[in-house]
Amino acid sequence: MAEAVAVQIDQARWRPRITHDRSPVDLVAAEKAATEMLAALGLPIDSEDMFETPLRLVQAYAEMLTPPEFDSTTFTNSAGYDELVLVSDIPVHSLCEHHLLPFTGVAHVGYLPGSRILGLSKFARTVEFFARRAQTQERLTMEIAEHLAERLEPRGVGVVIEAEHTCMSLRGARAAGARTVTASLQGRLRDDPKTRAEFLSLTRDRGGVR
Ligand code: ZN
Repeated sequence: MAEAVAVQIDQARWRPRITHDRSPVDLVAAEKAATEMLAALGLPIDSEDMFETPLRLVQAYAEMLTPPEFDSTTFTNSAGYDELVLVSDIPVHSLCEHHLLPFTGVAHVGYLPGSRILGLSKFARTVEFFARRAQTQERLTMEIAEHLAERLEPRGVGVVIEAEHTCMSLRGARAAGARTVTASLQGRLRDDPKTRAEFLSLTRDRGGVR
């Protein structure tokens, strides 16, 4: 029986401002419901090949909807580095909250350091933490930016996400290859034209906002 994974934050004073309240995962109830749903969809779930499909389905969803443990340690910017830091092409795997179908792509995350900096690997962790749940791309983009703004108090922060939504490419409009680009800019990355242009041109080179 899986239980909701508690979000471990290394510094007690930090609390996510945006909370996604969710009940613990009940795999037994979920498997029962999945069995009924797949049968109602006309699938031969009694067959040998599909016998365990309901369980595998709910295990996969439980995994994709459970944020990983998250350690968001920051460091003093002792070197006084004050130029743009950009981590590009961070993989994004999330589920759209309207269809529970995957959307996948990349995130480009940048900031202008203030007094605190973040270990570079933590950018990918931050993206994963907010992506592994039922999401919209717009909210995901803002949550990553707001989290970094809150944790680092940087002079500016920018997040660009480009993703393909399978709810749009595999069904409905069947717009295969269509990309959705979202951006959230704060501080000098939003207000200072030169810094904003530098950030957007760096992400554009990676295929971001045009
Ligand atoms: Zn969707």
